[in-house]
Amino acid sequence: MSLLFDVPQPMVIAVNGEDADFPVGRIFCVGRNYVAHAKEMGSEVDREAPWYFCKTPTAAIPSGSTVPYPPGTENYHHEMEFGIAIGADAFRVSVDQAADAIYGYFSALDMTRRDRQSDAKETRRPWDVSKDFENSAVVTAITKVGDFGAVGPQRMHLAVNGEVRQDTRLDDMVWNSEEIISHLSHFYHLRPGDIILTGTPAGVGAVVAGDVITGCVEGLDPIELTIAAAE
Ligand code: MN
Repeated sequence: MSLLFDVPQPMVIAVNGEDADFPVGRIFCVGRNYVAHAKEMGSEVDREAPWYFCKTPTAAIPSGSTVPYPPGTENYHHEMEFGIAIGADAFRVSVDQAADAIYGYFSALDMTRRDRQSDAKETRRPWDVSKDFENSAVVTAITKVGDFGAVGPQRMHLAVNGEVRQDTRLDDMVWNSEEIISHLSHFYHLRPGDIILTGTPAGVGAVVAGDVITGCVEGLDPIELTIAAAE
């Protein structure tokens, strides 16, 4: 088959200890999964209602990248997140069954045009422009679930130019990995290649051209993103 032109391909993520890469199918993101972050955004976490937004797979880039400050914002924010890589079909699975779908974990940044998100909230319009755009999902290599072990009190933190801004423990998540997968699987037929960004803790904030974002989840590869001048 001949194609009229090439389009950007979804990224593949390296897997620690594996020769083959993990191709990204879809990117799901969880909103408000840490109590302290919900409060800083002016909301209370509702334990009964997790909710989601998506990013286009071509929006993903690997950790270590340098990206231009994006157009259309004057308040570009970092959100450090714990990522789940899905390695098996999951449709209407229970919380107990959900663990079988987890291939591994990675560190991620859910980069956000916070001003456009505020506009969208105010006007009750969709979030796409605030969340789903080029270079807005930054991911590290995947660590396989067996090499990571149980999710618990591991520290997750993010610094800008070396100054710590976000600092939490994975067990501070309102919804854990299995609960998220189970709930999401009642809306989507999850399949290998899907990834989930599980929400950000308190301390989100703006970055500007010249800033270097570094972050780490204890037990996973560290993440890094450099913000260059706008194009
Ligand atoms: Mn987020």
